[in-house]
Amino acid sequence: MTSTLKHFDAIIIGTGQAGPSLAARFASAGKTVAIIERDKFGGTCVNTGCTPTKTLVASAYAVHVARRGAEYGFDIGDVRVDMKRVKARKDAVSGSSSKGVEERLRGMTRCTVIQGQASLQSSNTVTVNDEILEADKIYINVGGRARIPDMPGIHDVPFLTNSSIMDIDFLPEHFVIVGGSYVGLEFAQMYRRFGSEVTIVEMGPRLIGREDEDVSQAVREILEAEGIHIRLNAKCLALEKRAGGVAVRMECMEDPKEVTGTHVLLAVGRVPNTSDLGLERAGVTTDSHGYIVVDDQLQTNVSGIWALGDCNGRGAFTHTSYNDYEIVADNLFNSDHRRVSDRIPAYALYIDPPLGRCGMTDREIRKSGRRALAAKYPMSRVSRAYEKGETQGFIKISVDAETKQILGAAILGVGGDEVIHVLLDVMYAKAPYTVIERAMHIHPTVAELLPTILSKLEPFA
Ligand SMILES: Cc1cc2nc3c(=O)[nH]c(=O)nc-3n(C[C@H](O)[C@H](O)[C@H](O)COP(=O)(O)OP(=O)(O)OC[C@H]3O[C@@H](n4cnc5c(N)ncnc54)[C@H](O)[C@@H]3O)c2cc1C
Repeated sequence: MTSTLKHFDAIIIGTGQAGPSLAARFASAGKTVAIIERDKFGGTCVNTGCTPTKTLVASAYAVHVARRGAEYGFDIGDVRVDMKRVKARKDAVSGSSSKGVEERLRGMTRCTVIQGQASLQSSNTVTVNDEILEADKIYINVGGRARIPDMPGIHDVPFLTNSSIMDIDFLPEHFVIVGGSYVGLEFAQMYRRFGSEVTIVEMGPRLIGREDEDVSQAVREILEAEGIHIRLNAKCLALEKRAGGVAVRMECMEDPKEVTGTHVLLAVGRVPNTSDLGLERAGVTTDSHGYIVVDDQLQTNVSGIWALGDCNGRGAFTHTSYNDYEIVADNLFNSDHRRVSDRIPAYALYIDPPLGRCGMTDREIRKSGRRALAAKYPMSRVSRAYEKGETQGFIKISVDAETKQILGAAILGVGGDEVIHVLLDVMYAKAPYTVIERAMHIHPTVAELLPTILSKLEPFA
């Protein structure tokens, strides 16, 4: 039974990283907006992604430093982790963020918050629960979810994803993590530090295969040094029930061809939440992976419908989703012609030490055919890292030999997730790297080494 049509200036589906801010922008411009959420407010980042994982990473880091107490001059005996308290801390941080998003939305004048599954009925109507909503502008911010590969045994054994793992308050004895990319590695290191035995099963020849080989290798060494078992070139073929756990059967050159853990986490990529959205009724085009096809200003092929965040396949991060909001809002309200293609790739991998990345990888630079210069510097020679006793990793920067602009950088090391922004902002300014060479940086910091490193540029190998 459906009710009467309700009209709004805009309808937003999803309360991820773009939707709530866009709702606020509409409301403050005097427009009416309906925002629909089927699950927890705040979406992936707040509930099952960045916020809970980085809270858990912080607990794992504290445990790790405590275990290294003797190196720093203190002794606290056996370090025992209470996973119930670790989870409670994570829930408190995550829960308050989600509550904050909900309260912000419910407190907005001209904003109607609706909980339920939204479905497009046409290019300007959406149904949710028993209501039909109409608007000339519809914004889709539905995000994605963990990919569950269709393999033998998948329906017969218990497994965890980045969402269901948020509910566990115990320590898996032996955690097998399928997938050696960004999500898998963060969980691998944190659970190892909490005390699990951890095995990573990765089908590629190296971890984080999109990164440069030296980055993959250094990350592998960091994880192996903490006792994490890593199986590369090992394709997970099937899951099988075993006494006390789950066996992951692999196609691989090396033996054994099976690893049995008490628990398995599947971290093998993400899929967009677009299959149950009624996109076909509105005529919205998706690509072969289900991502909504958008133009440089995030408009779909249907006039009046935009797609923002992970569901458009143009980014897979909180900051790309938020940047999508800025692009859409500035184009609409400020006539500022912002485009997705103006943004520079940037992200971090939150293992410890973290990896901060911006711009092109070495492989991309080589492929571009341009003449480049590069410099690499070990963290062991950065005094801040040395003083902190955290000397793993390196800093690597590449610049264009002609324009002197920075092409890309990887900072794997203490503070790498923050220091990378020094380079990123110079890239956005389209300024030559020599600006950094002449800047006075604070001592002792990791960033103070950037001018020194840039003075050592050599032809790109
Ligand atoms: C384990 C993990 C760690 C991560 N860590 C980081 C990190 O450190 N840094 C970073 O930048 N990114 C990180 N990410 C990625 C980041 O979480 C996502 O890129 C980001 O949350 C995507 O936001 P979004 O706005 O696209 O959508 P989402 O945040 O996914 O929100 C979409 C919302 O839409 C709702 N929805 C979906 N369909 C419907 C429907 N039909 N009707 C109503 N509502 C609907 C969903 O319930 C959800 O609330 C991580 C991801 C994971 C999985």
